[in-house]
Amino acid sequence: MKLLFSCLAALAAAASPPPPEPADRVFVNGRVWTADAEHPWAQALAVRGPLLAAVGTEAEVRLLVGPRTEVLDLAGRLVTPGFNDAHMHLLVLDEADLDGAASVAEIQSRLREYARAHPERPWVTGRGWGFGAFGGEAPTAAHLDAAVSDRPVYVRDRDGHSAIANRRALALAGVTRETPKPEDGEVVRGADGGPTGLLKESAAGLVGRHVPPPTEEEQYRALKLRLDQAASYGLTSIQNASTIALPVFERVMAEGGLKVRVYASLPLKADLPAEELARYRGLRETHRGPLLKFGSVKGFLDGVIDASTAAVLEPYTRGGTGHLNWTDDELRRTVAFYDREGFQVLLHACGDRAIRQGLDAYASAAQANHTHGRRHRIEHVEVADPADLPRFRALGVIASTQAFFASPDQTTLENYAPLLGPVRASRSNAFKLFDDAGAVQAFGSDWPVFPMRALHGMYAAVTRRTAAGDPPGGWYPENRISVEAALRHFTRDAAFASFDEAVKGTLTAGRLADFVVLSEDVTSGPPERLLSARVLLTVMDGRDTHREPDAFPARTSAR
Ligand SMILES: [Zn+2]
Repeated sequence: MKLLFSCLAALAAAASPPPPEPADRVFVNGRVWTADAEHPWAQALAVRGPLLAAVGTEAEVRLLVGPRTEVLDLAGRLVTPGFNDAHMHLLVLDEADLDGAASVAEIQSRLREYARAHPERPWVTGRGWGFGAFGGEAPTAAHLDAAVSDRPVYVRDRDGHSAIANRRALALAGVTRETPKPEDGEVVRGADGGPTGLLKESAAGLVGRHVPPPTEEEQYRALKLRLDQAASYGLTSIQNASTIALPVFERVMAEGGLKVRVYASLPLKADLPAEELARYRGLRETHRGPLLKFGSVKGFLDGVIDASTAAVLEPYTRGGTGHLNWTDDELRRTVAFYDREGFQVLLHACGDRAIRQGLDAYASAAQANHTHGRRHRIEHVEVADPADLPRFRALGVIASTQAFFASPDQTTLENYAPLLGPVRASRSNAFKLFDDAGAVQAFGSDWPVFPMRALHGMYAAVTRRTAAGDPPGGWYPENRISVEAALRHFTRDAAFASFDEAVKGTLTAGRLADFVVLSEDVTSGPPERLLSARVLLTVMDGRDTHREPDAFPARTSAR
């Protein structure tokens, strides 16, 4: 018996590995939600270099504390994987932000402030105003001139369908009484026949094209600003649904300042010339992540519901069935081409007719090329026909939805839903339907169209209420999803959507150290916590990309 014990002890000693290399930092005493279905919760995690060295119990993680390891007390706070925004457009220039301005006076004061802060810009540009701010009056150049008249001013509305120009901008662009009516647009005219300053649809371009393109320096500064914002909202990865200004991103990356990982798409074009294909392949080869990665192409199948340009199977309540940008044949041929080349295809499709066309093209490409696992995606996928829901899982197509779209704001209730009618409205942006159909659903924001703050998007998906709490029961509340489902779509599922599930998306030892520490446990208690919770710390690649001063009040150093 004694012999057996000593034999076992010897065996154990022989089998026990050398002491593990100490971690750089360990985070203890937390509530760690890992997004890993096998081990959803842990107490602590350890970071070594850019990777997670351990995720587990306090005791397991403390094994990695060495003499130089920093120990941080989470004080029971929630840790989750860093958020991954699967559909957004990061590089938005630093223009006057008119979003949410409630009155003309507020628009004017924001423009004045922006003009004062940016004396170097020859034009004052902005975006995000809404017609509601003008209190029933039509916006005019005079509204802008009252704020800034010594420089041309050009501001676009939130949806990008209208713009206002001041007198100087109209003069510089040569828009006068004589300007003919543009196709698909309108120069709104006053009693004297002259332009009032309001420009609708394509008419906006008459002035917009005179705005000088941003310099590389302006783009650089804007990117740095957006990266700071993204990190402050807990984003550690973004998937850019439009072409990126590559030199600017590479410059920031070379400086070590790329605070989020970027998956960039290239334009999906029919009949891509050979030299362009070579460039696409080259970018995919030279940029393979984990910081900057190429591999997808993005195209548009239709427009948007609000403008009745999304392609629908049954007419809108006010008539029309929208518009398809591609014929079935042309799309099938083009998708098959990229599928054969191994590119992931992202198709913008909002209406059920366009969604079906996209799914048909994916099915046909897989059949023609004998390919599988390409993880092609439908972007927005707002109003899918129920018959098409099972096809997402069957074809392995990712539903790339935008959490904030479930927020029943004024436009949704007064324009969007009435256009669709109650039956289609009840299943629009119904994230539950994709979950129930077993589809992989990746959440994004569609910033700058909607806010970048992922937690607020999750609140919309979980409550289907506005931030003000309306309607109290939620808008079509049967489509609400749980907080954990929303978190999963913004982490693990979004990582899958860019083929990165082996390196990120869950908090697992050996994967990238991308995570956030929140001020409140959003997984329990009222969903309003998703609105009030602050991101105290964002870690990407093992480094702090955002940290609030009071993130760790009770901080200890070693042991
Ligand atoms: Zn978009």
